[in-house]
Amino acid sequence: MPWAGYPPSRNPAYGTPEWKTARTRCLRSANWRCELRIEGVCIGTATEADHIDGLANDPHHQRLQAACKPCHHHKILSRAAPAPDPPPGWLAGGFTMREDGHHECP
Ligand SMILES: [Zn+2]
Repeated sequence: MPWAGYPPSRNPAYGTPEWKTARTRCLRSANWRCELRIEGVCIGTATEADHIDGLANDPHHQRLQAACKPCHHHKILSRAAPAPDPPPGWLAGGFTMREDGHHECP
């Protein structure tokens, strides 16, 4: 079947048997319980495996921890976006937010 396994995911590292095996082993050893336990986020039941050091630093999935979906996303977002809050009134500096979500230049 030419379509089998296509697309594996946006990141080809997540389509490999190596990843699937590592992920299942991680979740099973944690007894399908989330190990991130982020307060106010965690739902308890792990369905995903998180790279503790990030995939880029761990291409062979040696250091994984079980994570529930909300915790995993929370971790990814907080790692990827260390963006500070915009200064107060930043929208007032010449931009007007329209109801359709676009902004207009003055
Ligand atoms: Zn969790």
